[in-house]
Amino acid sequence: MTTKVCNGNINSSWKNGTVLISGAGLIGLTIAHMLDKLSIPYSIYDRDENENFRGQGWGITLHWALEDFLSLLPVELHKDIYESEVLENFHLKDTGNFIFINAGTGETVVRIPPTKRLRVRREGIRKTLLKQVDVHWGCEAEDVEINQDASDLID
Ligand SMILES: Cc1cc2nc3c(=O)[nH]c(=O)nc-3n(C[C@H](O)[C@H](O)[C@H](O)COP(=O)(O)OP(=O)(O)OC[C@H]3O[C@@H](n4cnc5c(N)ncnc54)[C@H](O)[C@@H]3O)c2cc1C
Repeated sequence: MTTKVCNGNINSSWKNGTVLISGAGLIGLTIAHMLDKLSIPYSIYDRDENENFRGQGWGITLHWALEDFLSLLPVELHKDIYESEVLENFHLKDTGNFIFINAGTGETVVRIPPTKRLRVRREGIRKTLLKQVDVHWGCEAEDVEINQDASDLID
């Protein structure tokens, strides 16, 4: 763990008015791309030593957030997102319901009708989101301090 170096990075970022993001998961990386699009400087930190330190799991389905999610990313990454699809080009013929079943009773709890959606491999989508983002690996956030008088943080 390179705590000392991380502290140095964080302190200088903070002084520069840079947004600090803790966690290079799907959400942190999406925020990083969004800030980049808005030309807002950011620094992103993750507790893991590198991007391959931890398995990312199986698949994730992007439902109603798909269009908004893509709009936050550079256009050149959209192709890679679609190439992370669990079953190649399945979105072109996906007419099924997405059903959540109560395993105890067998009853359907939620039924999401066919919509524009994309089921992608978690490893694939994370690798894509890591493109163009420089993560500070091995930096674990240990505490968050909330300053009630945050006026000094705003220009
Ligand atoms: C079984 C399952 C199925 C799911 N299916 C779907 C689905 O189909 N569709 C959908 O939209 N959502 C789904 N979700 C929810 C979705 O996975 C999460 O909302 C999403 O992964 C959250 O992203 P995240 O970046 O917040 O967290 P994560 O992807 O967990 O990333 C967190 C990152 O933060 C780092 N980190 C953690 N602690 C620290 C720290 N103290 N300091 C620095 N770094 C730290 C970790 O190393 C990691 O890289 C599912 C969740 C589960 C559990």
